[in-house]
Amino acid sequence: MLSERARKIKPSPTLAIDAKAKAMKSKGVDIVNFGVGEPDFDTPENVKEAAIKAIKEGFTKYTAVGGIDPLKDAIIDKFRKDNDLGYERDEIIVSSGAKHSLYNIAQALFSPGDEVLILSPYWVSYPDQVLLNDAVPVFVKTFEADSFMVNPDALESHITKKTKALILNSPSNPTGLTYDRKTLESIAGIVLKHNLYLVSDEIYEKLTYDGFEHISIASLDNNIKAKTIVVNGLSKSYAMTGWRIGFAAGPKDIVKAMTNIQSQSTSNPTSISQKAAVEALTGPQDFIKKMLDEFDRRRRLLIAKLNAIPGVRCLTPKGAFYAFPNVSKYYGKSIDDRKISSSADLAIYLLEKANVALVPGNAFGDDAYIRLSYATSLDEIQKGVDRITKALGNLS
Ligand code: PMP
Repeated sequence: MLSERARKIKPSPTLAIDAKAKAMKSKGVDIVNFGVGEPDFDTPENVKEAAIKAIKEGFTKYTAVGGIDPLKDAIIDKFRKDNDLGYERDEIIVSSGAKHSLYNIAQALFSPGDEVLILSPYWVSYPDQVLLNDAVPVFVKTFEADSFMVNPDALESHITKKTKALILNSPSNPTGLTYDRKTLESIAGIVLKHNLYLVSDEIYEKLTYDGFEHISIASLDNNIKAKTIVVNGLSKSYAMTGWRIGFAAGPKDIVKAMTNIQSQSTSNPTSISQKAAVEALTGPQDFIKKMLDEFDRRRRLLIAKLNAIPGVRCLTPKGAFYAFPNVSKYYGKSIDDRKISSSADLAIYLLEKANVALVPGNAFGDDAYIRLSYATSLDEIQKGVDRITKALGNLS
């Protein structure tokens, strides 16, 4: 029989839709894909060149488990420049993606029965990473009326003697929420008062709009920095999802434990990707601005079009590249023999009848919503939302 741990993990709720979308596409159906969680831009040329050079120079062997020193130094510089945060090399670990850094944190910090606070809607992997380490995810619901910002009193009311940590994600996947300084200060106060750890996933840090400046909660003061592990990576900012480079920064003892765990599981992240990451972080940064300008155009179009659909309501995201509209007005409606009762029903209906792939909100812990990624062209956004509008209009 499979382990208890394995049996606790549910299959990704997005998989069924994704598999179906792929099957339809392979049969030649013209699918508009709002499902993907990765930039549709190519990795910058200078970064690719650095990887090719690494291969040609034979930089193809094991490296230090937690990353090569030049990459750690580039990450330290990044934290200093972008976040006003100072770290030493032994407070940094490079992993095979931010997801891997997050997993190492879960392994290093969570014991059976520990409670871990997760703000809902949440990124899909947080609850399962907690469960995989025999700890208990505790969800704190946030509301559209508050722009999905957590209410500090509500947060505090979920804390028990068993609470070990809080996972924070700003800018957020799926809501596009970005936390302001005042709310971060309230959260930091609660974390310190109850002596919790704070995991701050800042992977969308560079993808913010309307002049919003990302603030790393660890930079508020040294007390909160001492309890925070900041997670970041290159997947989103540099269109490097396939290269698998993420990193974490935090207290020495935790980073050391994470490095030991990594040494017994995956060893170092790919040597070639590490060289590419040094170039990404230290080379020209104009790529990010170009990508962001394009995301911004798409964001404006997508949000305007979604809000023009009768009964659909969508906040304007301030970060990342997702729209998270409330579509619950359509629940209870029908077409032919098909009744739409949930985000999953709606996602399947839109895929089958409108040939649009998107992710149902239940995957992120809130069934009233669906998530659309705007990592797709303006033309596809036009076409896709027109199809959604028509398909929703056919429900009664
Ligand atoms: N955190 C969040 C919020 C994400 O959306 C993602 C990617 N979907 C990750 C972490 C992981 O990114 P990666 O492992 O590619 O660095």
